[in-house]
Amino acid sequence: MASKKKLLVVTDLDGTFLDHSYNWDEAKPAVARLRELGLPLVLNSSKTVAEMEDLAMELGLQSPLVAENGGLLAIPNDRTGDYSVQVKGLCRKEILEVAHGLRSQMGYKFEGFADWSDQELAERSGLSIIQSQRSLARLATEPFLWKDSESLRLEFVDQLSIQGIRMLRGGRFWHLMGAFDKADGSAFALKYYQELEPDTEWQVIALGDSANDTAMLEAADIAVVIPHSDGANISPKAPIVVHAPFPATKGWNAAILSLLNEYY
Ligand SMILES: [Mg+2]
Repeated sequence: MASKKKLLVVTDLDGTFLDHSYNWDEAKPAVARLRELGLPLVLNSSKTVAEMEDLAMELGLQSPLVAENGGLLAIPNDRTGDYSVQVKGLCRKEILEVAHGLRSQMGYKFEGFADWSDQELAERSGLSIIQSQRSLARLATEPFLWKDSESLRLEFVDQLSIQGIRMLRGGRFWHLMGAFDKADGSAFALKYYQELEPDTEWQVIALGDSANDTAMLEAADIAVVIPHSDGANISPKAPIVVHAPFPATKGWNAAILSLLNEYY
């Protein structure tokens, strides 16, 4: 029996699906088209599960969520509408112990979510207080602002890597995390759908805008690069690379609609 082909869309949120006001109105036509075609949409973000749940509900998604840069997987439970959460790799507490230990020992200048109240985070990120509280409910990663030189940053990266901790550049912040990344989250989502529909041949479309999306884009069949208005764009290598015509949500919508027109 011939297997049928289906597209699995895996997307970053900030600067990709969401615009700088955390809004996705301009993606509504493409989201509606995905729903009509019965194609899953998997959110794969540096955000926490608490931050992603409302968006997933607004979008009416039944798909797993990949949160905190692949450090957390949230699997939807049947009917109840809640998720089972799994932490992958190091937990945030272990990461903070090492990073803060190096800061007091070496005098590095950086500030992260663990140093801020919900009020301070709201001021730095443009999130509301409630959104900030959800964003502070982190289990596997630590976003932060580096306030020291590039050479000291590279020294810090070396010291962290000995402890199995990596530093990746996100849209607004740097992120400390264990060995997992968004590509692992994406691979998990693919496996989830392969088990759910074993006769389907899935083709993964991944969309992202930042360095922490590169591994996820390179693991996809079709990589969609969402441009930045300042021209600092990533260059992933994938079988097919598409450059969206506009930044953020508007580019996401245009790229998905054009790929769906090509495939369906
Ligand atoms: Mg992004």
